Amino acid sequence: MSDYVQMWKDLGMDLETHDALCQVLPTAFGDVYLSQENRPEAMGFWDFVVSEIHGIRPSELIEAQKNGRKVFGTFCVYVPDEVVIAADGIVTGLCGGSQFWVPGGEKVLPKSTCPLIKASVGARLDRTCPFFRIADMYVGETTCDGKKKAWEILGEDVPMYIMDIPQMKREKDIEKWAQEIAAFAAVVEEQTGNKITVEKLNDAIRIINEKRKAMARVFAATKGKNLPISGKDRLLMTQIAFFDDPARCAQMCNKLADELDERNAKGVRVFPAGTKRILLSGTPLAIPNWKLHHIIETSGAAVVCEEMCTGTRYFENLVEEDKTTLEDQYMALSRRYMKNNCACFTPNTGRIDDILRLAKEYEVDGVIDVNLKFCCLYDTEGYTVEKALKDAGIPVLGIETDYTDTDAEQLRTRIEAFVEMLG
Ligand code: SF4
Ligand code: SF4
Repeated sequence: MSDYVQMWKDLGMDLETHDALCQVLPTAFGDVYLSQENRPEAMGFWDFVVSEIHGIRPSELIEAQKNGRKVFGTFCVYVPDEVVIAADGIVTGLCGGSQFWVPGGEKVLPKSTCPLIKASVGARLDRTCPFFRIADMYVGETTCDGKKKAWEILGEDVPMYIMDIPQMKREKDIEKWAQEIAAFAAVVEEQTGNKITVEKLNDAIRIINEKRKAMARVFAATKGKNLPISGKDRLLMTQIAFFDDPARCAQMCNKLADELDERNAKGVRVFPAGTKRILLSGTPLAIPNWKLHHIIETSGAAVVCEEMCTGTRYFENLVEEDKTTLEDQYMALSRRYMKNNCACFTPNTGRIDDILRLAKEYEVDGVIDVNLKFCCLYDTEGYTVEKALKDAGIPVLGIETDYTDTDAEQLRTRIEAFVEMLG
């Protein structure tokens, strides 16, 4: 990635600290990813993207900015990409998934903040991630208390716009979210200097729907007995989907899905027959958080699906494409986004229904419910998740972890015992 040094300098990055990050990433990726056998050929695209992670997409974004386009950085799957795309803007995900950025976040946040928030703040303040430097505006949301307060701190350093998400899902809440989407659209128009029209928004809705459908195809390939792709590889595809151009993302996911369908037809698999099938539920796993997948898939099991924002919550449910007024389109967007079931809502029975449905659809042997340390929302909801799964006779293991490796051996012991217990 050395070719990008001048670009990083121009972005005002701390090159020395950034070098340290660039040195550890290839080894981590090699150990976790390249050690796998018989991977789908199409994964070559995602391997390449990771090898150039701080270079290739950032340079595309900078090129777009030179042509007058604006980049919006987001942290949550409730923020509608469609609105930004309709104004010819670009969306990039900004959730931090590395322990490398956590100490930077702890300089300004309590240690008892979830690692995702600490890493996201640290990546900006320590100037070690190009995506955080490039974004013209950050878009936050009021999903959890840690994020709400973190936005105030980030807002001192970068323009921030906050979307006020409802806490319940009554009809009036869905209408309120539609109004928030309309207000966001006005801000996006002002930032980009481009008007959002019905036609442009419908085009954007179609683009993002196509991306969702393509990702759903990749996930569907692991519903059957044959497993043509590892959970690790599928997770990588999902993590990078937050950063990539949506049309290219759809194209690459469809290419991967074609190969997986072919592999399934021929019985080509990456795990031996009878490997235990695990559904992961819980807090998101932002790139490069591959820890749990790696432990599970080197402990005799396979992750066949994630009920997470880095999983089904990202692509399930489409936005209706037939609306003819902006008002109706914002309402259609709101209806789709409010079908997401994050633990920040109460009651959140839809998430329990999702987990039980996915456990059945993916024919799982057990569920591992994951909580990022200090995420009080998912931690508390773990009680309801575990109870519902036990009532349904589905084995469940609840775990809490962070971005460090200090608990890796302890997790391995617990996960191996769980897999063994599955029979
Ligand atoms: S877990 Fe909730 S707050 Fe976090 S990205 Fe997902 S929807 Fe947003
Ligand atoms: S994992 Fe929990 S605490 Fe962390 S950002 Fe998401 S909802 Fe907030």
